[in-house]
Amino acid sequence: MRWRLLAALVLMIALGAAGVGRAQVPIYFNVIHCDPHFASEADWGALEDLVSAADARGIALTIQFNPAWSGVISSDASRAGDILGWVADGHEIGGHHHVLSHPGAWDGYSNQPAAVNAPGYLGSMQDWLAALTALLPSSAEILTVSSKDFDFPAGVDFQTGGSGSTPSPSDAASVPTLKSLNGAPVWQIDHAALIAGGVWQTTQMKAVFNATAADQVFGVAFHPHDYYTGNHENVDEWFDFLVGVDPDQSHSQTAGAILEAHRQALQATVPGASMGVLAVTSLLLLCAALRALR
Ligand SMILES: [Zn+2]
Repeated sequence: MRWRLLAALVLMIALGAAGVGRAQVPIYFNVIHCDPHFASEADWGALEDLVSAADARGIALTIQFNPAWSGVISSDASRAGDILGWVADGHEIGGHHHVLSHPGAWDGYSNQPAAVNAPGYLGSMQDWLAALTALLPSSAEILTVSSKDFDFPAGVDFQTGGSGSTPSPSDAASVPTLKSLNGAPVWQIDHAALIAGGVWQTTQMKAVFNATAADQVFGVAFHPHDYYTGNHENVDEWFDFLVGVDPDQSHSQTAGAILEAHRQALQATVPGASMGVLAVTSLLLLCAALRALR
């Protein structure tokens, strides 16, 4: 995990120092949304297969679980260890939320007042975060959460997607954006759906990837149920495309590592910014002194 963060940081600094775009390949991330209404044995098996397919190609995954995966994870004592093994191998764990208005697939948690009396209400978004934390091994850190702004759990620093994010392939390219959610700073990055409404958008996604600007990050999302046995073709095509354009996978990162590197890169520039403020302040003081001498 740490080496990926360091690699992302070094890459960003190097690209900035070069003053030009990157090579032709943007920094990119692949998010796996583990949905509340697809949390069966078949989904766990498909997730294992997705991780294997990514490992075979050196691609890092950002795996975002919903609390509804509690049953399938706890049904086999070895699965918590599997998740820790994935993190050790460079993948990242996060959370994925379905809001009250999600068509037929609300996960039961919400901060919206209307949810409290809705059938199936399980609790607030802090309860959601507690349930998610409880289903994961204690050392598996939840770095990112994909949720709308109005249902974002306090205490998480990084958001993928969020309000305004759509299934459109054009949303795959974006720049990290600082928001204030629950009164706290949260860094956000977009991702787009590799498959939307049952239609694979792989071709459009490749075009967006190739057109991603130098200062942008590319993010794509799909699900374990998009990779059921016998249905590997489209995701494999996507993974193989990434291997083709980035043979050593040096630009493949996790969403949390990208946002953390971005935050740290900005913090690293703070001394420079302070010097700028100092220079302006000194200039203003000098002007005031000169005016007083006239
Ligand atoms: Zn979902």
